[in-house]
Amino acid sequence: MLDGCTPWPPEFAERYRAQGYWRGESLVDLLESSAARHGGKTALVQGGRRVTYGELVRRSRRMAAGFRERGIAPGERVVVQLPNVPEFVVVCFALFRIGARPVFALPAHRASEIRHLCELSEAVAYVFPDVHRGFDHPALARQLSDELGTLRTLFTLGETTESDAFVPLSAVEAAADPGHASAFPAPDPTDVAFFLLSGGTTALPKIIPRTHDDYVYMARAAVTAAGLTENDTYLAVLPVEFNFTWGCPGVIGTLLAGGTVVLSEDPTPERCFPAIERERATFTAVGPSIVHLWLEAAEWLEADLSSLRTLQIGGSPLSREVAARIEPTLGCRVQQVFGMAEGLITFTRGDDAVETVLTTQGRPISPADEIRIVDEKDQELPADAIGELLTRGPYTPRGYYRALEHNARAFTEDGFYRSGDLARLTPDGNLVIEGRIKDMINRGGDKVSAGEVEGHLLTHPAIARAAVVPVPDEYLGERICAFIVPVGEPPSLTEVKAALTDRGLAAYKLPDRLEIVTELPLTGLGKPDKKILAAIVRGEPVPAAVNFIPSAAGRPNPARPAG
Ligand code: AMP
Repeated sequence: MLDGCTPWPPEFAERYRAQGYWRGESLVDLLESSAARHGGKTALVQGGRRVTYGELVRRSRRMAAGFRERGIAPGERVVVQLPNVPEFVVVCFALFRIGARPVFALPAHRASEIRHLCELSEAVAYVFPDVHRGFDHPALARQLSDELGTLRTLFTLGETTESDAFVPLSAVEAAADPGHASAFPAPDPTDVAFFLLSGGTTALPKIIPRTHDDYVYMARAAVTAAGLTENDTYLAVLPVEFNFTWGCPGVIGTLLAGGTVVLSEDPTPERCFPAIERERATFTAVGPSIVHLWLEAAEWLEADLSSLRTLQIGGSPLSREVAARIEPTLGCRVQQVFGMAEGLITFTRGDDAVETVLTTQGRPISPADEIRIVDEKDQELPADAIGELLTRGPYTPRGYYRALEHNARAFTEDGFYRSGDLARLTPDGNLVIEGRIKDMINRGGDKVSAGEVEGHLLTHPAIARAAVVPVPDEYLGERICAFIVPVGEPPSLTEVKAALTDRGLAAYKLPDRLEIVTELPLTGLGKPDKKILAAIVRGEPVPAAVNFIPSAAGRPNPARPAG
């Protein structure tokens, strides 16, 4: 296994093989075998573009040859940042074929995140779109290649002619098709296929190495648990780089089942409803904040959604009330999903009782998934007691990439991943997520590490101390509130956002609210007491020790109760 990764202990690997979870099949094998069965069938759709299974195989072979001609070698890392377009899938399979490893970046990422991913993975190449949603990706690529000695090649989805600076993906794909899969050495199924980004609680986001064996198994288990077949059409609404969209069952599961993937670049009902109607989509996956929009739109937006069989909802908490409105309003079944790029996936099932579907996140997709709910001392708790969710299993890797120190904290000695989520198991074995202990904000499904934002805030000359906490929000679930202790004249929220944007931070990580205080309340260990801060933004009484300074924008201070 790749240096910097933690392999499963041999006895676990043997067991997962003996029990038939790991079948020694790579993601390339998965695509080739689906193409052998469904060659002429449409694999991918985006707008008016359609790619058959046969074409996907040929295009990914040509692109693999093109990457090789341009010097991408087995084992090297390539940061891939593309919107939901067929080229994302072609690029990934091309890199899998030559044994190079995509590192998934989100379309919303900016200089700060992309630089970090390139540095952490020592990427030799970066794949990016042209100007996308107003952001100049080529300019960022040029900047990063000037800064980073390791970044050799810049591949763009844009239609530039090949220059010293950029290689268009269309030129890479123009390479001759070697005509057969064996033109490339078969990937080792135990090897890392690609890296997923962690939702993260650390100042510098971590990446998660996923092997062919573990990911193919996860996709297969998700296909079974979701009841996906070759007759299904999956609408990819969230970014394809999310684990949820990529493999739960998502794009990879649909390709495994021999179905069709429709790629939508935008989750709005105005874009998705017509796509569901046009393509007769049967299956899709969204977060609760998008469900709100879809439920509202169903009242006024004329569209035939009758093909839609299942709506998977995951990524953040879904209220019972919203869950209960879905079937009557959209005419499809709800499947609650709990999942994480680190591994464990749970689904409610088609034959579950209604109440289970409305109020739980279901059961693990694999019988080999191990779950423990523990107290602060790692003691296992009985059913229905709330504690931290720990997990281990055949698709839950044993460590982040190049993160020895962090791994020692994030995993137990016996290899369970500490999710940082608070959960309970019902007596019949369904998981219910009850909250979390990790220092993260879940902003409409986008995960924001408080520590990362704090690190950026502290580089501002007018900020001496900073603590970032979630604020409850009706639509997004949570928004981001930054408490700061200023140096001199306090900055306004607009100034702070502009400063973080200038530092290249993605827009979804910018504070939505700024509170300026003379001191941060501290815990016994001398760290900012985020429990107090989170309670203040929820509207609870402000302790005497916390004094607000009116911001330049003149926002009134939160009310301090009399006495
Ligand atoms: P990510 O790795 O970005 O998919 O984020 C994983 C995290 O999202 C989990 O550890 C949870 O904190 C949160 N999460 C995922 N699914 C759900 C869900 N159904 N309900 C509540 N939180 C969720």
